Amino acid sequence: MTANHTEAYRDPELTRQLSDEINQISHQPIRLMEVCGTHTVSIFRHGIRDLLPDTITLVSGPGCPVCVTAQGEIDAFVEIARKEDVIVTTFGDLIRVPGSASSLEKERAEGRDIRVVYSVMDALSIARKNQNKQVVFLGIGFETTVPTIAAAVLTAREMKIPNFCLFSAHKTVPPALTALMETRETKINGFILPGHVSVVIGLDAYRQFFKKYRVPCVAGGFEPADILQAIRMLVDQIESGSPALANAYPRAVTKDGNPKARATIEQVFKPADAIWRGIGPIPASGLRLREAFADMDGGKRMEIEPSEVEDPKGCACGEILTGMKNPPACPLYKKKCTPMHPVGPCMVSTEGTCAAYYRYHEDSLLRS
Ligand code: SF4
Repeated sequence: MTANHTEAYRDPELTRQLSDEINQISHQPIRLMEVCGTHTVSIFRHGIRDLLPDTITLVSGPGCPVCVTAQGEIDAFVEIARKEDVIVTTFGDLIRVPGSASSLEKERAEGRDIRVVYSVMDALSIARKNQNKQVVFLGIGFETTVPTIAAAVLTAREMKIPNFCLFSAHKTVPPALTALMETRETKINGFILPGHVSVVIGLDAYRQFFKKYRVPCVAGGFEPADILQAIRMLVDQIESGSPALANAYPRAVTKDGNPKARATIEQVFKPADAIWRGIGPIPASGLRLREAFADMDGGKRMEIEPSEVEDPKGCACGEILTGMKNPPACPLYKKKCTPMHPVGPCMVSTEGTCAAYYRYHEDSLLRS
């Protein structure tokens, strides 16, 4: 996509027009959830909430990979890092998430070999250069990042890199939407479906979910006009009483997604139950390596299985990830919990709702 093409979706005139249309057609109070952390950041950065009428409340969802990583998984990562002759490799934000007693950042300060990588392929390269060590890649993230992780597993197999393994804490979006709808307190009237995830899995991946709950769902892009267009379509559906599974991001999202990426995921992973921070166990919402790749399963190789552990005392990440609270409603927000000293992952990750509020929305108390 060219820069100019993207610019068109930032056009203030188009943004204003969409905002006016939403203001005209919105009459009843509704709660819309943006599922994806990238949407959350874009909404704050572009002041989208301020362009909406009072009838519309936007709430953030569980689409930030670091934020939904369960406390028990963080503890398992720390335990792995403490093992002899192990190099832990992972993406940046994860190392700052506090576990029950430590974090990867603290462990690294104490001399454990923990390396931040920009791509899983870097972890493969570390494994090739350190053949006397086990290199464990901590896999977090949704369907967006999973294809490259799956490709790395295939590459490790093909290139015979025996000291590389993957600890999969990956999660998938459609089962989380079901869990949200089954939680009565969330009271969500419509979903802005995650753009990047939808590029991979396609609109049809939500079909079953939509058929069951008949809740308006619109896939959205990340520029201001993309988001407003998705909101406009949702409001239209709600006001006319005609829920639909629709696409406001047709330049990137298709009905079937990316068949090659989906096939790579399917070849390497199978669905497994997973624990989500704030939501708890969700059936078939995680990804485990298939039997053919079981020897590369980091959990098995390290003999570590995450257990269910309570979230940090006082941290409202669970309610924030399910749209039941906004960050200012957390008693620790801006007091004990800041980006410099985060208590929970929602303040650590750049895509976390608490971090986004802290950074972009100083007057959020007025709207919460
Ligand atoms: S402000 Fe901090 S403690 Fe409160 S919910 Fe957010 S991350 Fe958790």
